[in-house]
Amino acid sequence: MSNPTRLVIFGRQGAGKGTQCIRLVERYGVIHISTGDMLRGAVAAGTEMGLKAKKVMDAGDLVGDDIINGIVRERLAADDIAENGFVLDGYPRTVAQAEALVQILGTDSLDGAVDLDVPLEEVTQRMKARGRDDDTDEGIARRLELYELETRPVLDWFAARDLLVQVDGLADEAEVTKRLFAAVDAATSAS
Ligand code: ADP
Repeated sequence: MSNPTRLVIFGRQGAGKGTQCIRLVERYGVIHISTGDMLRGAVAAGTEMGLKAKKVMDAGDLVGDDIINGIVRERLAADDIAENGFVLDGYPRTVAQAEALVQILGTDSLDGAVDLDVPLEEVTQRMKARGRDDDTDEGIARRLELYELETRPVLDWFAARDLLVQVDGLADEAEVTKRLFAAVDAATSAS
């Protein structure tokens, strides 16, 4: 069998990462690791970490690097990941997290990172229509601001290592999926 696919997906809040990750799971057999979903799981379970995280998430701020790195490290160590590969969604979101990821995985072990690019005005409209707990006007503005401040440098970090592929996410879902598959196919055959 060929090596399992190992990907990171970037994109602004509301860019459609969640939907497209479902397609990636179907096509590449990877496991979807969403740090946002994991944190919401911890909140729902009422764990101590979940209670702390909820305040941070409701404000649209970032949970501390140490906590999130620990969660991801543990998840990536599981056997199903070695067997099936993964798509990381929502991580890394800071350069410190990107550096932690390299430590966790080793340097040559990612096939690539995809940036699902959707303009700011469009994602703002989409998120207002979605209505998640943290989708208040202030929460949305703060998360988008932090994306530019904290996550843009992570995109540059991946680009500098020739690991970043841009995908234009401004199209209907099926068309975006097609573009994404083409980008991932190119990334996995190149690595
Ligand atoms: P969105 O992409 O809409 O911000 P996510 O589901 O990815 O939604 O994340 C929701 C919230 O969870 C974030 O606003 C943040 O508070 C927290 N979070 C998720 N991933 C991370 C991360 N890698 N580092 C820090 N905080 C995170």
